[in-house]
Amino acid sequence: LMHLTKKLIEIRSMLLSIDQSDALKLPSIVVIGSQSSGKSSVLEAIVGHEFLPKGNNMVTRRPIELTLVHTPATNGKVPEEYGEFPALGLGKITNFSNIQQTLTDLNLAVPATEAVSNDPIDLRIYSPNVPDLTLIDLPGYVQIASMDQPETLKEKIAGLCENYIREPNIILAVCAADVDLANSPALRASRKVDPLGLRTIGVITKMDLVPPEQGATILAGNRYPLHLGYVGVVAKSSGKKPSSESAGTVARRSEGDYFGSHREHFGASSSLMVGTDTLRRRLMEVLESSMASSLHGITNAVQLELEEATYQFKVQYNDRRITAESYVAETVDTLKARFKEFTTQFRKPQVRAKLKAMLDDKVMDVLEQLYWLDKRAPELGALAADAKVKPGDVEPYWRHKLEAASSLLTKSGVGRDSTLLVADGLRALIDSIASGEPFTFHPRAAERLIQYSHMILRDRIGVTSDQVENCIKPFKYEVDVDEREWEQGRGRAVELFENEVTMCENKLKDIRKKVGGSRRLNGLMGYVKDLEEKAKERNNRRLAGEETTEEESESYRYPPAQILDARHAVLYSDRLSILKLRLAALKSKRCRAGPESDVLCPEAFLNVVADKLAYTSTMFINIELLDHFFYQFPREIDSRLLYDLDRSEIVEFARENPVVRKHLDLQERKDKLEEVMKQLNSLSTLRTDTQPTPRRQ
Ligand code: GDP
Repeated sequence: LMHLTKKLIEIRSMLLSIDQSDALKLPSIVVIGSQSSGKSSVLEAIVGHEFLPKGNNMVTRRPIELTLVHTPATNGKVPEEYGEFPALGLGKITNFSNIQQTLTDLNLAVPATEAVSNDPIDLRIYSPNVPDLTLIDLPGYVQIASMDQPETLKEKIAGLCENYIREPNIILAVCAADVDLANSPALRASRKVDPLGLRTIGVITKMDLVPPEQGATILAGNRYPLHLGYVGVVAKSSGKKPSSESAGTVARRSEGDYFGSHREHFGASSSLMVGTDTLRRRLMEVLESSMASSLHGITNAVQLELEEATYQFKVQYNDRRITAESYVAETVDTLKARFKEFTTQFRKPQVRAKLKAMLDDKVMDVLEQLYWLDKRAPELGALAADAKVKPGDVEPYWRHKLEAASSLLTKSGVGRDSTLLVADGLRALIDSIASGEPFTFHPRAAERLIQYSHMILRDRIGVTSDQVENCIKPFKYEVDVDEREWEQGRGRAVELFENEVTMCENKLKDIRKKVGGSRRLNGLMGYVKDLEEKAKERNNRRLAGEETTEEESESYRYPPAQILDARHAVLYSDRLSILKLRLAALKSKRCRAGPESDVLCPEAFLNVVADKLAYTSTMFINIELLDHFFYQFPREIDSRLLYDLDRSEIVEFARENPVVRKHLDLQERKDKLEEVMKQLNSLSTLRTDTQPTPRRQ
């Protein structure tokens, strides 16, 4: 039979870890009493050790779920006594004053403003000197709250106790003999939920403080009858103790002395229950029979929950089992697969195209700077159009121009810019992986991915850009262009210019629409040009040292926003006319003739240079940056992202994903219920073997 309580206590803690619903609760003994009623002394007498927090400032602020586990002696060897806080992972604590300290710390950690917390502390004590029992110690009822305690403290404690003294729990109502039972908050609370006293045991402490006749009258329980009766104790641990004896022994002896010397009132013939040993026995009996009568109900409840969990597991997950480890492995696989997929964007042709686009922009900048802003630019167009002009006849002015343009392009920081362009692409790739599922659920892992990629890039960017710069050095001095390259460059330049023309035309169209038609825009543009002309004149006069008077602004004729639009329109139309001139030149016979026309067609020549730069840069970026990155990054993932996590970190990681967490939760619930069910089944056979299951009506 002892076996039954022990088993059920184990089952009870398993059920508590499954969920806190009332349906799945096995009874426990709940200890209530007002402050200083002697509650702690009673509990310590039962355990045989001082281990509860002491002090007069509300030292119990959280419920303590105290599970006592009897550890029998085997082969005459007495096992060690120890306590354990399963939630804290501190291991076995053999020194009970350490247990006391830990409990004190845990209680004091509850902020004073809250005063009490609903979150129970789980404490297990293993000892050959304790019975198998579960006791819940609750904060003592307070009569008057002290200054630093919140107003609502009284209600808060009452509420907490009320929650715990519900069925099926057994109530241990602690009352001091020297206080009128009518004033006992413990009995009052118990009567509210258990009016017949069917599951309440009264414990009368401090029996030594009242005359024995009075004590005996209280224990007889005629005034406030309790079905389970009253037990009288003297639980005060007498201050000093000989070092060879435990506190429990001393306390028990003084209690024995007291009841022994009043045998006429408390002797065997009185049929009153006195003493800590009697109390323990009584608690064991009551818990045992309460557990036994809950057995049938709890078995049914667990069966129902198990069926539901099994059904849900089938329906939601088709019985597919997962583990945190399998999730981690899957995540790493997905990550690598996605990475690989993305790397195809970084093959040589793609990289070359990106670099070429960047260089095309640079070419446009160079052309604008050196040619389009040059007043002589139209001359060049006329030369190209003139069939009589031989390339050798062209003034050295244009030859210098072309060399300057080519050198401006090759010295524009191509190494750094192209390396950074590709590095930015890689960064964006990792960012997009890190910000997608499942990493949305794993912000820390996402952060690490980004860190790894930045680290590798930091390592390689300098080397790569130097290497590229070195390798394009020859182009700074000489660029050889063959027929085929020339024709390609010319074609590409035509394309670029045509795009640019379309772009400018679209912009102009937009502006025209915005200001309200082409007549309006022409008016605006004329006005703006006029203003510019005047400004220029004024400036010239000032430079010549003449007096100038600020002319009054005429801008009232048009709103400032439209004047700004008109200025843009002037720029676009200027550019359009030059683009069209150059397009005509690029398409002319002269330009088609081949590389000897380079001076007359700088656009085609620079395009060939840009192409060569893109080709060379791509080659070295591929070797120095991309190859390293694509090799290194998956290895960082393998060796550092998740594989150095320990078991609990793996679980924590997996549970960050809500889908996985739900799956794991249900699976675990089902497993635990199955285990509980198995244990319950083995118990019922055990019980039907020994005696018929008692049923309480
Ligand atoms: P709690 O606040 O309800 O936990 O009460 P304690 O167990 O701390 O006891 C309050 C005070 O009553 C302490 O000073 C104890 O020493 C004293 N006390 C507890 N039990 C007895 C007892 O049986 N007899 C006597 N004389 N004093 C007791």
